[in-house]
Amino acid sequence: ECFYAVFEEEIHQVILENQLFKPGERIAIGASGGKDSTVLAYVLSELNRRHNYGLDLFLLSVDEGITGYRDDSLETVKRNELQYGLPLKIVSYKDLYGWTMDEIVKMIGLKNNCTFCGVFRRQALDRGAALLKVDKVATGHNADDIAETVLLNILRGDIASFNSEFINIRFSLLLMLGCQNLNKFSTYAYFKKLDYFSTECIYSPNAYRGFAREFIKDLERIRPRAILDIIKSGEDFRISTTTKMPEQGTCERCGYISSQKWCKACVLLEGLNRGLPKLGIGRNQGLNSDGKKDRKRDSRTPSIESKQCGSLEF
Ligand code: SF4
Repeated sequence: ECFYAVFEEEIHQVILENQLFKPGERIAIGASGGKDSTVLAYVLSELNRRHNYGLDLFLLSVDEGITGYRDDSLETVKRNELQYGLPLKIVSYKDLYGWTMDEIVKMIGLKNNCTFCGVFRRQALDRGAALLKVDKVATGHNADDIAETVLLNILRGDIASFNSEFINIRFSLLLMLGCQNLNKFSTYAYFKKLDYFSTECIYSPNAYRGFAREFIKDLERIRPRAILDIIKSGEDFRISTTTKMPEQGTCERCGYISSQKWCKACVLLEGLNRGLPKLGIGRNQGLNSDGKKDRKRDSRTPSIESKQCGSLEF
């Protein structure tokens, strides 16, 4: 009992200290049916009740259309809807983009599937949030995942993810649960008997992140607080003011936020619809407004894998 109390109280304190929520706000909880998002949904609804945060909470799920994986995990989220009394909204790739991940993998194989999935998911979450008219989206991640992502962003030279404003917004929400390491998450979920889904995506293998994970585990064996140190480095990372950062605008095609004429999702979609799925893959292949390749543009997208690959895009 004291473990539950400390776990919940630590999260409550992070919410208070960082003023993460205001009374009356509508908050969507990104719910995949996995352990982290289930713990987040449970703890947040408990704290909201216990401490009268005055929040309107919703569950928001993305259906990528992965047979034998997402269909099963969504059944868990539907049970969570009833268990926690939180209204659930599901947005699907098929409805938003006209393609399921099963269809995409059939066309492109297993090499760049996570790029498509991660880009589409990020936009799907934002669109779901707009449909629910929420003020914020809360996503659940443990400290191990966050440390991996900090390291991966550095290894990829993905400086856009270290834009100070971006990281402040992102980390204030992430730290809510990020202060808890994976073992505490698992222990909490297990002993609370939370209803979650623990199978890996059938299209999963992501070798690059796997190496980062192993590396961090090795570091942790030598220095137990290595994970928290890496997260602290990520928080304190600042880009020189002389570094050129992508300017945020809107996609000419769909109106979604983008630093290019077309957002990454539209570029990828154009490739799929034209039967040229490699069109938007790689760092320097954007599209100009005529839908033609523009190799000069840098169309990279930060942290493009999904939560399932352990990234921060839920
Ligand atoms: Fe999508 Fe993650 Fe599966 Fe890749 S591993 S296809 S990003 S759910």
